Order: sequence, then structure tokens, then C-alpha cells
Amino acid sequence: MNARRSFSARLIAWQLEHGRHDLPWQCTRDAYRIWISEVMLQQTQVTTVIPYFERFMARFPTVMALAVAPEDDVLASWSGLGYYARARNLHRAAREVVERHAGVFPTTFEEIAALPGVGRSTAGAIAALAGGEKRAILDANAKRVIARHAGIGGDPSNAVVLRELWAAAEARLPRTRIEPYTQGLMDLGSDVCLPRNPRCLLCPVQADCVARIAGTIDAIPGKKKRAAGRRERIAMLVVVSRGEVLLEKRPPRGIWGGLWSLPEIAVDAKPADALRERWGIEAAGIEALAPFEHAFTHYTLEVKPWRVRPRAANRLAQGNAATWLALDDLEGAALPSPVRKLLGRVALEG
Ligand code: SF4
Repeated sequence: MNARRSFSARLIAWQLEHGRHDLPWQCTRDAYRIWISEVMLQQTQVTTVIPYFERFMARFPTVMALAVAPEDDVLASWSGLGYYARARNLHRAAREVVERHAGVFPTTFEEIAALPGVGRSTAGAIAALAGGEKRAILDANAKRVIARHAGIGGDPSNAVVLRELWAAAEARLPRTRIEPYTQGLMDLGSDVCLPRNPRCLLCPVQADCVARIAGTIDAIPGKKKRAAGRRERIAMLVVVSRGEVLLEKRPPRGIWGGLWSLPEIAVDAKPADALRERWGIEAAGIEALAPFEHAFTHYTLEVKPWRVRPRAANRLAQGNAATWLALDDLEGAALPSPVRKLLGRVALEG
């Protein structure tokens, strides 16, 4: 395809022939479905998202079903996708849709963008795909395509660079057929204009791609300057008794907010003392498990797990934000994925 046709015309023609047409959130104008898929896709690849999306839609088929569900259920359905603030915002936004829009998910950009946790790009995608509104998107994939095609270097989280990217994204919008255009930008970013080794020979806009012509693909988009990796160390207690494990509810804000997790103690605290002081449980046996790490966006968490066998009755003091959960019920619980993995290993070891 040559450069005389507009960027959007080439992208639309490519999408119709080579793009994706069978994803479970496509072939619909249901803004609710599109919204859920957009939020799931924000930090996660399409193939990973598909089973989560299908399970989530089976459990919460309408915005009303999501709005009335307990937060624990929403977080449990999200468990494994990470970035749980997204799930909490989804839940809040669903309630707002019920209150402010009588349970009908809005389809205009302004109304969508006013919902909690919905950014400009997500609102643009939903307005375009569900409402046919001419709006630009700039998710991670679209950002890469636009930055390279327009030759915009620099860190995209910098406000000046970001403004330039939005202007370039808007300048490329088609006059009509915004739906295949928007989908085409997403598909091109996820299948062709890959972060490393993009498949430029298959790209419909290669003829006038500035980064390809200038040989600057690897430098665009520019990288964010990261502070030297911060590390935090904690210990976790795996207290298992009579087929049940002790879990604590995490505070609503911060990492893994609102999820159930293993009790945490300072890395240099004595597990038996902490267990007695905080939960009134006497330990009969303690053993160190293999430590592991979990990377968050801003730091790495080093976890030193201890397996504890309690001495006798595992009753908990009243008012404790803790509970015993049957190991058989772990599957459906709202747990952070590293905790789920650790418990899976422990359950296997018996
Ligand atoms: Fe991306 Fe290559 Fe296409 Fe440029 S030519 S937009 S770098 S895939």
C-alpha cells in the first residue's frame, strides 16, 4: 500500500483484511462489554484477557449485575489480572452508571470520561466502538504505532510529548468508519508494530513511517527514566490447620487493596511471637519456605514465607480482620496471584 492514501484509509483496509474479527468483545455495540474488555486490556495481552473476559461476563453479564455484586466477588473474578485498582474502579463506575444513567452504560465520550477510573483513551475507544463517535485512542499499542509513524521520540509520560502524541493521533482520524480504524490501530500495535522487532514488511503504513525510514524504531517510543529499583522485604505466614488457611483482609488502598492475603509480619519478627500477639494462636511447628519476589511497577517485593502449624483450636479473636478459608475454596477467592501460587505449592506439598 502506498503513502498517497491516507494513514486511516490504509489502516482500515488492512484491518478489514488482516485484523481481528472474532474476539469475544467484538461484533457488538454493547458499551458495557467493550468497557470491560478495554479495562482488562490496559496492562494485559489479548490472549491472556480472553478467558478472564469470558468468565467475568458470565458472572456479571450486565452493568447492573456488576453494580450489585459484593466487592469480594468482583476482586475474585479479577484475581490474576493484577492492578486491582482497575477492578475497584470498575465496580465504583458500575454503581455510578446505575445511579446516574439508570443502568444503561453511556456511549458519549463526555459521559464515559466522567466515570471513575476511565481515562481519555478508554473513553475514546468506547465512544468510537460503541457510539461511532470520532475519537482518538492512545493506549500503549496505539501510542507505539503513532509515535513511530510520526517519528515522535521522548518519554510519552512527559506532558509535552504526550500532547504531541494526542495531536498526531487526532490528525490521523478518518472522516468515517471510526470502528474499523480504532480496532485496526489496536490490532496493528499488538500484532505488527511490536515493541521489539516490529514486522514492518506487513505494515500498511510502512511507506511513510518516519521511524522506519530514519532507522529509529528501537528508540521510539522513548523510555521512561526509572529510579533505581526500590526493594521491600516482608515475611508472610502460611498458617494451615485442618484443611483451612488463615487469611487477612488487606486495607482498601495500596497494593492488593481489598484482597484477602496471607498475614504479613516484619521480616525480622519471630513468627511464633507475632502469631500469638496478633491472632492468639500458639505455634506447634514452624518451617521456612522458599523465598520469592514479586515485581510491582515501582518496586520489587521480597517475600520470606513461613509455614506454621498451630497447636490447637484455631479460633480467632472477635473483630479480627482475618478469617479461615478452606483450601478447597481458594480457587474462587479474591487473592493476589503470588499468594495464590504460594498456597498452591503448599497445598501440593501437603
Ligand atoms: Fe510500526 Fe514498522 Fe509499521 Fe512503522 S512501519 S508503524 S515501525 S510496524
